[in-house]
Order: sequence, then structure tokens, then C-alpha cells
Amino acid sequence: MIPENLPKGAVAQRGGTLYSVRPRTPLGEISAEQLNVINSVVQDFNLPGVRVTAAQRLSIRGIPGEKVAEVIERLGPVGELCHYYVQACLGTTGCRLAMQDSMKLGARLEEFLNEFELPAKLKCGVSGCSMCCSESYVRDVGLVGTAKGWTVVFGGNAGKGVRKGDVIAENVSDDKALEVIGKVLDFYRDNAKKKERTARFVARVGIEAVLKAL
Ligand code: SF4
Repeated sequence: MIPENLPKGAVAQRGGTLYSVRPRTPLGEISAEQLNVINSVVQDFNLPGVRVTAAQRLSIRGIPGEKVAEVIERLGPVGELCHYYVQACLGTTGCRLAMQDSMKLGARLEEFLNEFELPAKLKCGVSGCSMCCSESYVRDVGLVGTAKGWTVVFGGNAGKGVRKGDVIAENVSDDKALEVIGKVLDFYRDNAKKKERTARFVARVGIEAVLKAL
């Protein structure tokens, strides 16, 4: 059954009668309490299981329309409650190769982005070292940890028009990285067309114009 008012956070699956929801898992972290709630919901509603998406989110699928509101109420916050999506690797909190604390800066970046209203969706990847496990060079905004600070990358995309992002700052501190990101996003917001992702935007206006704005 298709519910009359689809609750926020519910996504229709192919076929249109079943729904999926994505519990909020900031930076890919899930608490023991969250895991217990998710597990009990999956069992109580006899759902097929949980899938980890490419974006480090959990997707609980196979929910019948008439049950979707109840499932969401049991799960608590679902869907993309944060404005823009930030992916971060473990960095110095757990990876032996890490040069910088990607979890800490990722959390700050997620909060920072809530201040923006941008023309299109924005994906960010924060990697603690040049191995780039968070795919920073193919994200709209990427950060890569080095021994001297952060490299900031802008305008990457991993879609069919794949584009490697341009480096817009090097060897900067956490604070400076956020300052640079703020400036480049101001320029993007003020000059991009509606729904124009950063990769297309940089290709259209040119990286020189972007760098001049910083
Ligand atoms: S990007 Fe570097 S620090 Fe992050 S998980 Fe990969 S190897 Fe570790």
C-alpha cells in the first residue's frame, strides 16, 4: 500500500510498493545503541536486512508502505538530516598511515556546511593521508592529510563525467582549510547555475577564476 503522506526520509524502491530508510550515521559511525535499535526494527518488522551504501550509510529496505511511518518512528532520525554529505576515513583515530585527524575535521566540516544553501548537492571526502580512502579527489570538496597539514581540493566528481578536483590550497591548518572551503563555496553559490555541480561549474568558469576568488 502506498501511504498518502510519505514520511520524510522514506525512499520508494523500484516497483513502488516497498520503501527504504537510511538511519543517520555521521561520518560512518554507528553506536552500540543505534545498532541495537536497528537490529530490533529489522527483526520485529521481518525486513530482509541492512545494506551499507557506497556513501557509508545504512539502508534498511523492504519496508511495506503501511509500516514505513512506524519503522521511522522506532529508528529515530532517518534520511539526510545533515544538509550535505561528508565522508571521512578513520585518520589518526585508528589508521597507522594517517597524517591528520580526518574524523575531527570531517565533523567540523559537516557542521560548517549547515550554514550554506548551495545550488546543487555537495559531496565531501576527508582522507587522513594521500592514500585517499575517502576518495577526496573525486568529491566536490576534498581534503587530504599530509605531514604539514591539509591539501584542499575542489570540483571533483566520480560520476559518468568523471573529473579530478583541482588543488586550491596546500599545507593548511584545520581552521584555514575551513576558511578556504567557505570562500570557494561562497563563490560557487554566487556564480553557479541551479543544479550545476562543482565539477561542471569549474569546467565552465575555469579554475583560474576560482583561485582568484580565494
Ligand atoms: S586515507 Fe590514509 S589515513 Fe585514511 S584510512 Fe586510508 S590509509 Fe588510513
